[in-house]
Amino acid sequence: MIMSKKEPTKEKILASVEKRKKSEQWYYNDYWREKGTPVEQLRVEHGANTIDIYNFSSDVELNKEYQKQIEIVMQFFAEHFPQALEGCKTILINDKQSPSAYGDEDKFPFNGEVKRDWNTLILYPNAIKSTPHRTGAVDHFSGTLTHELTHFFARELLEEWQKHYQWEEVDENDPEWISMPNASSMIAKSMYHKEKGYLAFEDKFPAQPPEDFVSEYAMLSAEEDICDSNVVFAFDADKLKEVSSIKFDILSKHSTQEQEVSVKTTSIPEHEIVVPGNDPEVVKYYVKR
Ligand SMILES: [Zn+2]
Repeated sequence: MIMSKKEPTKEKILASVEKRKKSEQWYYNDYWREKGTPVEQLRVEHGANTIDIYNFSSDVELNKEYQKQIEIVMQFFAEHFPQALEGCKTILINDKQSPSAYGDEDKFPFNGEVKRDWNTLILYPNAIKSTPHRTGAVDHFSGTLTHELTHFFARELLEEWQKHYQWEEVDENDPEWISMPNASSMIAKSMYHKEKGYLAFEDKFPAQPPEDFVSEYAMLSAEEDICDSNVVFAFDADKLKEVSSIKFDILSKHSTQEQEVSVKTTSIPEHEIVVPGNDPEVVKYYVKR
């Protein structure tokens, strides 16, 4: 490590190392360390790589059915978008449910979030359900996993996507835009277009009609649109073609069509579950004068 201070004290060096370590990996972070040992650990092997899934929620059980779904989703990414699996090394299942970012638990529940710096995907208990996914293409768990893994590379497609699909700013002086009648349960800036019936979140609304989207959630932004469209691309490609042949073509064009990759999920026995990062580490440093 390199520090700019002329004469760093041992305390300053240690504090700096601690800060850096915490930003590098989930398992150095107090929030996750305090959760202790996960209740379940699955290891997904895809080709020569692995993804570890740590489940901290005792309300959730990743049974054989979920393991099968994980394998199907991972198989899809290994063959079509391997960069997602290069970006994601760990999946954490939180025992605490975060509230909806959009203030609507039914329409927009908080299912997951991507931490690129940690190469980690965090899923919330909401994600582990076998009801249909909002796109209608597959069940909720497979759909959510596919949506979240797509976030690892969705930005590569943004420029091309936005050539065809734009989001526009809400003109707050336009009397056609009104605040949502049930604004208390929605985020502060949720607006509704009286004539067109559009909803605008975060002050933006799509320039295309709702029929061009695979879900209402997809209308939030180009990136969310890419992620939900990829769920339909993976599980009901004909439906995506019907909704938008442009979206289908962009995803097809970026898909790698790799040879079949073998994907295997193993459940780690309870007594062998270990969270990384507990072994002492030697930190080497030098002082440049
Ligand atoms: Zn998303």
